[in-house]
Amino acid sequence: MTPLPSHLAYVPFVSVEHMMGLVHHIGIETVLRELADEIEADFLRWESFDKTPRIASHSDVGVIELMPTSDGHMYGFKYVNGHPKNTKEGLQTVTAFGLLADVDSGYPKLLTEMTILTALRTAAMSALVAKHLAPKGATTMAMIGNGAQSEFQCLAFKAICGIKTVRLYDADPAATQKCARNLAGSGLTVIPCKSGEDSMEGAQIITTCTADKQNATILTDNMIGDGVHINAIGGDCPGKTELHRDILLRSDIFVEYPEQTRVEGEIQQLDVDHAVTELWQVFSGVVPGRTGDRQITLFDSVGFAIEDFSALRYVLKSIQGTEFFIQLDMLADPDDPRDLFGMLKRAKG
Ligand code: NAD
Repeated sequence: MTPLPSHLAYVPFVSVEHMMGLVHHIGIETVLRELADEIEADFLRWESFDKTPRIASHSDVGVIELMPTSDGHMYGFKYVNGHPKNTKEGLQTVTAFGLLADVDSGYPKLLTEMTILTALRTAAMSALVAKHLAPKGATTMAMIGNGAQSEFQCLAFKAICGIKTVRLYDADPAATQKCARNLAGSGLTVIPCKSGEDSMEGAQIITTCTADKQNATILTDNMIGDGVHINAIGGDCPGKTELHRDILLRSDIFVEYPEQTRVEGEIQQLDVDHAVTELWQVFSGVVPGRTGDRQITLFDSVGFAIEDFSALRYVLKSIQGTEFFIQLDMLADPDDPRDLFGMLKRAKG
C-alpha cells in the first residue's frame, strides 16, 4: 500500500502502464460503469462548472486541443490530439494526458496519461447517453469504425445498456478482424459485416466512430430507419463529420455543450439556431429524452471537458492505497518559499 504523498511538492503520476494495471485491478466493465456514474453526477451539477469550448490548434493533418474546466474546488485540463493519418505511420489517431489541480493553492494533484482514459470516458459517456435515449430493450448495436475506440464502445454498451450483439464494420477489414479478436470472450456476440448497411441490420443503436479529416458520409439518410439511436463519435472537428445532413433533419439532436458542438459536431452542417437539447437537462429530468417509438435520437458527441474532469477525479480517487502511480518531483519546494534562487544555488553542490 502506497499512500498518496502528503508533501505538496510531489505529484502522483499515472503512466500508461499504471493505467492499464489500474483498469485490470478494478475490472474494465466496473470502470466503465463507475465513470458513467461520475460523469452523470457532474452533469447534474452543470451550473457549478466553469465552461468554455476547447481551444483547438488546427493543421492540415490534424488538431491539438486543450480542454479546461473547474468546479471551483478542482481545476482540470486535458491535452489531446486528433490525427487520422497517424495510424498509417504506426501512431495513434488520438493521444492525451491530463492534469488535475487544487483551486485553493493552484498546486497540481494528479498528472496522468489520458489516451486509455479518453477511450474509457468516451465510451462511458456514449453508453450513459444511450441509457437515456436508446429504445428500451435494445440488444443490438452496429459499430462502424473499428479502430482504437471501438472495443471500449462495445464493452460500455454491454455493461451499461445491456447490449448483447455488436455488428462490426470498417472500411479496412483488418480493423474489424482486430476488433472481433479483442472482443472474443467478452460475452458479446460479435458479427463482422461487409458493409455499413449490413452492420445496421436489426440494430437499435448505431455507433459511428471513424476517423477521416473530411466531411465523410458514413451514414446516408436511406440507411436510417425510424426509432433508432445514433451515437456519432467521429465527427468532432470543423470540416470532419460522418452523417449526411438529411439524417440530422430527421433526428432529435442531443449535445454536450452547444457552444462547442456547433463548431465541431455534426450540427456544424446545420443553421446556427437549429434546435438541440443539452444532455445535462435530460440527465436531470428537466427535459425528456426519448419520447416515442419512431423518434430518431442522435447523440452528436464531440467530447467535453467535464467528462475528462470526472475521469481525472475518478483516477485520483481510485489510485489511493494502490501501487498504480509514481511520485513526480514536479514542483520546486524551497524551505523559504521566497528563496527559490537560494535553493538553486545550494544545488550546485
Ligand atoms: P482510429 O484511427 O483508431 O480508427 C478509426 C477507424 O475508422 C479506422 O479503423 C478506419 O479504417 C475507419 N474508417 C475510416 N473511414 C471509414 C469509412 N468511411 N467507413 C468505415 N470505416 C472507416 O481512431 P479512433 O481513436 O478509434 O477514433 C475514431 C474517431 O473518434 C476519431 O475521429 C476521433 O477523433 C473520434 N473521437 C471522438 C471522441 C469524442 O468524445 N467524441 C473521443 C475520442 C475519439
